[in-house]
Amino acid sequence: MTYRLPMHQRLANALSYGEFRVNFQPIVRLSDGEIIGVEALCRWPQRDETFSPPETFIAQAETSGFIVQLGEWVLRTAAEQTRRWQQRFNLPLRLAVNLSSRQFLHSNLLKSIQDVLHDTGLRGDHLEFEITESIAMHNPEDSIGIMRQLKLLGISLSLDDFGTGYSSLSYLKRLPIDTLKIDKSFVRDIPEDANDLAIVSAITVMAHALDLAVLAEGVETAPQAEFLRECGCEFAQGFLFGRALPPDEFEDLLLAQRSRIP
Ligand code: C2E
Ligand code: MG
Ligand code: MG
Repeated sequence: MTYRLPMHQRLANALSYGEFRVNFQPIVRLSDGEIIGVEALCRWPQRDETFSPPETFIAQAETSGFIVQLGEWVLRTAAEQTRRWQQRFNLPLRLAVNLSSRQFLHSNLLKSIQDVLHDTGLRGDHLEFEITESIAMHNPEDSIGIMRQLKLLGISLSLDDFGTGYSSLSYLKRLPIDTLKIDKSFVRDIPEDANDLAIVSAITVMAHALDLAVLAEGVETAPQAEFLRECGCEFAQGFLFGRALPPDEFEDLLLAQRSRIP
């Protein structure tokens, strides 16, 4: 008989044995290609050298409730690292961290964020949380309240995977968010797919009319970046600029950038 630990216990063990990692994906400004921020993405390497997809273990952590502890660890680890880079490179590098539904609704959310900001020295206005449309729209009145409290700490908010979930436009204009992150499924077939071209340019126009910035996810080719730049999309993320990298490899990108800028 195979004995398997409950998922919550497996995740808790993995955290206490230091198995999780945080990788960093560059976020660039499309006008000049400069790295202006990073998205922290959690990784769980397995002993047999296989790779557990984040979508799977994050969903398991969410179901088991362990995401609250894991998410706090990701935030703290990423904030410490980002602060070190800010100091070393004298850069106002911004940190984006994903917030899951359970984390977003947890009663200790604000306190744990304040503790991390205090302990790491990262400024609230250098931190951004990414939430999905479904989290924001699930109970919009409550969500708006939580989002306002985050904004009071100077933190920015973005809507992740925009266009794939359920958004009510009447709430969208009331949500205190700063950025729409266009989902990579709309970017993948640019410039061939006429529908995607229309969707991406319409989202950009709408976002700007609502005073929101636009970031495109999943940018893999130069023609995609070119189209997005022409649309007026301000920021981008994707394999064209860099994958989610371990800290030492991300640092090489920052070093390369520094040597390019006089
Ligand atoms: P996400 O927040 O939308 O993150 C973007 C995903 O797109 C990442 O997948 C990233 O590696 C991938 N990606 C980036 N550029 C490209 C590209 O050019 N092409 C393609 N095909 N993919 C690209 P990843 O790291 O597998 O993460 C998947 C999802 O897992 C994330 O989606 C996020 O929802 C969740 N996740 C990851 N880390 C965390 C975390 O620490 N906390 C929470 N709550 N969720 C997390
Ligand atoms: Mg994200
Ligand atoms: Mg996304």
